[in-house]
Amino acid sequence: DWLKLERFDLVQLADETADMLHATFGRMIRVHAPKTDMKLIADKDKIRQLLVILLDNAIKYSKEAIEISLQATKGTVRLSVSDKGIGIPDDDMPLLFERFFRVDGARSRTTGGVGLGLSIAKRITDLHEGKIDVFSKPDHGTTITVVLPQRK
Ligand code: ATP
Repeated sequence: DWLKLERFDLVQLADETADMLHATFGRMIRVHAPKTDMKLIADKDKIRQLLVILLDNAIKYSKEAIEISLQATKGTVRLSVSDKGIGIPDDDMPLLFERFFRVDGARSRTTGGVGLGLSIAKRITDLHEGKIDVFSKPDHGTTITVVLPQRK
């Protein structure tokens, strides 16, 4: 099996990951969770990697504060990462999860990256039998939402 399942607290993992990226990039990342504790059975290292990918993009493509929101409902957990950055054009939405896809050469050259992040995020979500969705508006920002079975 590709997954190393363990039981962990998603709020704690989100806090730790936000702190780590804050310490590295100096960007404000707020964690919004209705409860202080949200247990999940999943591959913790892969979920951390997923968070890093989404936060790294939010850092690269926005200048303002970033937010992680966590919610638990009916046997699933929903985690989303929102930024108020440059957003993604509608036409590019269907291609985002393709390997090596990057929006518009010019803006991507200045940020660096090869276009693998979101394809890896999608792979990690699929391995957990979850769902990943993008909501974005050019010049307003982007929210990427991942819903995972909680299996607790
Ligand atoms: P890397 O391989 O380092 O992750 P990348 O950021 O280019 O590079 P992806 O994470 O796969 O690759 O993202 C694909 C493209 O989607 C990016 O090039 C960028 O244009 C767009 N994108 C992703 N996240 C955001 C975001 N939060 N705001 C605006 N554009 C985004």
